[in-house]
Amino acid sequence: AAEEGFDLEDVEGAIEAAGHGPLPVLAVVGRPNVGKSTLVNRIIGRREAVVEDKPGVTRDRVTYEAEWAGRRFKVVDTGGWEQDVLGIDASVAAQAEYAIDAADAVVFVVDAKVGATDTDEAVVRLLRKAGKPVVLCANKVDGPSGEADAAYLWSLGLGEPYPVSALHGRGTGDMLDQVLEVLPEAPAQTFGTAVGGPRRVALIGRPNVGKSSLLNKVAGEERVVVNELAGTTRDPVDEMIELGGKTWKFVDTAGIRKRVHLQQGADYYASLRTAAAVEKAEVAVVLIDAAESISVQDQRIVTMAVEAGRALVLAFNKWDTLDEERRYYLEREIETELGQVAWAPRVNVSARTGRHMERLVPAIETALAGWETRVPTGRLNAFLGELVAAHPHPVRGGKQPRILFGTQAGTRPPRFVLFASGFIEAGYRRFIERRLREEFGFEGTPIHISVRVRE
Ligand code: GDP
Ligand code: GDP
Repeated sequence: AAEEGFDLEDVEGAIEAAGHGPLPVLAVVGRPNVGKSTLVNRIIGRREAVVEDKPGVTRDRVTYEAEWAGRRFKVVDTGGWEQDVLGIDASVAAQAEYAIDAADAVVFVVDAKVGATDTDEAVVRLLRKAGKPVVLCANKVDGPSGEADAAYLWSLGLGEPYPVSALHGRGTGDMLDQVLEVLPEAPAQTFGTAVGGPRRVALIGRPNVGKSSLLNKVAGEERVVVNELAGTTRDPVDEMIELGGKTWKFVDTAGIRKRVHLQQGADYYASLRTAAAVEKAEVAVVLIDAAESISVQDQRIVTMAVEAGRALVLAFNKWDTLDEERRYYLEREIETELGQVAWAPRVNVSARTGRHMERLVPAIETALAGWETRVPTGRLNAFLGELVAAHPHPVRGGKQPRILFGTQAGTRPPRFVLFASGFIEAGYRRFIERRLREEFGFEGTPIHISVRVRE
């Protein structure tokens, strides 16, 4: 490293920054209008989690990356769902339920100006049951005079209320310091115990693609579809399923079986559930209705899994209904609409007839293997050396930036850091990713490549 002009500390820092595995998850929950979205904006330091005044606005982004005091984590915002037919307590509980289940720690936001309401008490009960670490945010304390209001919230029994003004930023630093105190370094509950235990699979896809049918098929028994509304006190449930001689943990199958069809907020609710399932899983099986055109919603769900850095399998369902013409057009659609995940193993199944069910497990195993692949540094650099010699970066401004060396900083998914003598263009990065995949496989996994340029 030294003779290439990088100092060791620099190199080690870059590797550490890139090498983190899945990030711990912080859920922000609370009643509507207490300021959850405003707080999330504050935490992520962006204007991305839009605070909308329009009721019923659909937001499909619920997970954001954040950094505080040099630590990175994910934030799940549950602010996007309006109250609906369920009534306020049930609505809040339903959205909080999934977020809490997928979280490593929770920020519970209460409007200090209003004080604790019955709905807040309902969320407190959920939090108690879940047993996750909680930081109590007494929001809308815009000045010193509001601090007394915050103190009243000791009555919730969740410990110290942190007086915060999400709107103006007052007190958020102290609250985030406390969050880091209780938030584990890595998502312990979903990954720390994974070694040797059953692998975690999220079966996701838009409504009516056949998730519950597939689940019934692989679980080997017909179950009565629970038609109850969400927001009951039932926990999200994961299910152990025997498949291909192994036990798999299908996460949040209760969410699939509940089959919630709500009008207002249904899309957001579905997104929240999908995001929560993805966070809990190691591999996502995205189910797509092969009989219908691949939709933007299908693509969003695929993107969620990829952005979360999970292994990915694409399963095209309802194959029993396809005629030759549809099969032809489907192949074209897959190329154009899902070209960015051409690396994902694909299975064509029918939950109705059981067609190719036996191919599901090998596909999942392939994806998990890709997700965990580690390329030894020697092999990687031999490969990079040949690549750079045969296909040098285009000359820019009389200079030719070169990849000097690289290393794999982490797995699950594979993360690489490349050290370069100058700015490496996006096209050349994509070329390197393509060649890495050709050389080492990485089937079924996103890969991350970051480039460090010598000062
Ligand atoms: P959510 O429904 O819980 O996500 O709440 P929002 O973030 O959408 O905020 C609801 C309303 O409360 C908006 O009008 C915000 O501007 C306002 N609000 C949020 N945080 C604060 C705060 O710290 N102080 C004051 N005064 N208003 C706030
Ligand atoms: P979910 O909303 O994703 O859980 O979808 P469901 O499992 O409830 O399925 C939606 C509809 O598609 C139901 O009428 C199923 O019977 C039907 N369906 C599911 N899988 C298949 C399949 O492989 N072939 C056919 N022909 N229909 C299917």
